[in-house]
Amino acid sequence: MTPSTSDRLVLAGGTIHDPATGRDGVIDDLWIEDGRIVARPADPSAFRRIDAAGLVVMPGGVDLHSHIAGPKVGLGRRISPHLARREGFPAAVPTIHATGAAYAALGYTTVFDAAIATSAAAMAHQELADLPILDKGIYLLAADDAAVLDALDRGDASDTRRLVGDAVRAGRGWAVKVASPGGSAFWRAGRGDHHDLDTPLPGRRLTPRILLERLAAAVENLGLPHPLHVHTANLGLPGNWRTLLETMKTFGGRRAHLAHVQFHSYAGGDLDEGSFGSGVAPLVEHFNAHESLTLDVGQILFGKTVAMTGDSAAAEHLAHATGVPWASHDLHLSGGCGILPIAYKEKSLIHAWQWAIGLEWFLTASDPWRVALTTDHPNGAHFTAYPHLMALLGDAAFRRAAFERIHPVVRKRSPLVHLDREYSLQDLCIVTRAAPARIAGLAQKGHLGPGADADITLYRPDRDLARMFSLPAKVFKGGRLVAEDGHLRSETAGQTLAAVRA
Ligand SMILES: [Zn+2]
Repeated sequence: MTPSTSDRLVLAGGTIHDPATGRDGVIDDLWIEDGRIVARPADPSAFRRIDAAGLVVMPGGVDLHSHIAGPKVGLGRRISPHLARREGFPAAVPTIHATGAAYAALGYTTVFDAAIATSAAAMAHQELADLPILDKGIYLLAADDAAVLDALDRGDASDTRRLVGDAVRAGRGWAVKVASPGGSAFWRAGRGDHHDLDTPLPGRRLTPRILLERLAAAVENLGLPHPLHVHTANLGLPGNWRTLLETMKTFGGRRAHLAHVQFHSYAGGDLDEGSFGSGVAPLVEHFNAHESLTLDVGQILFGKTVAMTGDSAAAEHLAHATGVPWASHDLHLSGGCGILPIAYKEKSLIHAWQWAIGLEWFLTASDPWRVALTTDHPNGAHFTAYPHLMALLGDAAFRRAAFERIHPVVRKRSPLVHLDREYSLQDLCIVTRAAPARIAGLAQKGHLGPGADADITLYRPDRDLARMFSLPAKVFKGGRLVAEDGHLRSETAGQTLAAVRA
């Protein structure tokens, strides 16, 4: 990691929020040399001074679960302009260049694409090379590979470990993701959904539960920085909270990260809209009691977007449920994915529940250090809506006003009505950078201590949190000013974050 600048800077007199070092609104200077944060130097005269007085200073944002590259996103980009012309959908799937520019203008400096087939890794890296400014990494869907699945089925721990390690090295991955354990095998056999964790995969003895146990062990034994990244079975289905609870129990005390839990926390029975509801309470109780587990929420926000998932069965289910066209894409022997446009509506019973369920997770999970703010971009909402989500968490009055507009049944039955918790600036700093960096295993990111990458965002304090977080005053990446008031100032190339050196 060579520094992109030999500039020495001091951000003088800002209000520092750095949860990892315990600074919660402390006025101090921040010293930067060769792209890193350094301790106060003996001779400060060589440091160029930038006045940060009156500004809130935070580490750059870290998005640990997004979809910005790879075949499914390419397919989404092909669909997106047609939608924009015909149905008034926004460009939910911008070009890779516009994606990086928009993330940087928002104060984000690191992003992970959470679902890349091993066979698509080279192409995804080629695409991500054009993503400006941000450091970036990919999570590999290694368990969709036939050889890995064979080794998992045999229970051959050393072979599994070797094959997964080879895949991560060859694909320059940061982490291993499983998108519905065994899901693509069930899908290809024509048994899309409704399998529980103990139904053997078609033609195998391996069950999804054993797959999760063995794969999580392989990831841990390999010493990867991020634990197994788990999108569990039955995404989007009524009653699926039981599957998520069983998934959490499967890991015992082993570390695991649960992806977009909002989509996995539904009560209710099949095809019965009236029984649909929140299954969050028993899940959050288990989660709060088990420190080895981390999660990202995958919040939905009202508006139009384009959903894309590595889980074809879930896409098909969503398409049937919402009556929209969809496209499916199967990669030979290595997983699949689905694409569909979606408009989340306040007055839709299901969408209102999804919205309330995501917020219920944020407001009842007790330890923000184990929670990452995500919308499963672009599935739950576009990442540019993060400031709106931050306002929903940090401003109870703003949230109540939004709550008053949703479907009346959800207003009556959702526990959200009783939740007054407000995220402080420090809490918002944790769930958008400090926690996702720590959960992802990025030692040099998400904090402002000496040795950290000088990825820094400066905000103007504002009671309107959505406005405050939408338009950072200044964004630094590796010590270089990259954005100012929404305008790009410099287009540095970010680093590829690979867990294993090639
Ligand atoms: Zn996702």
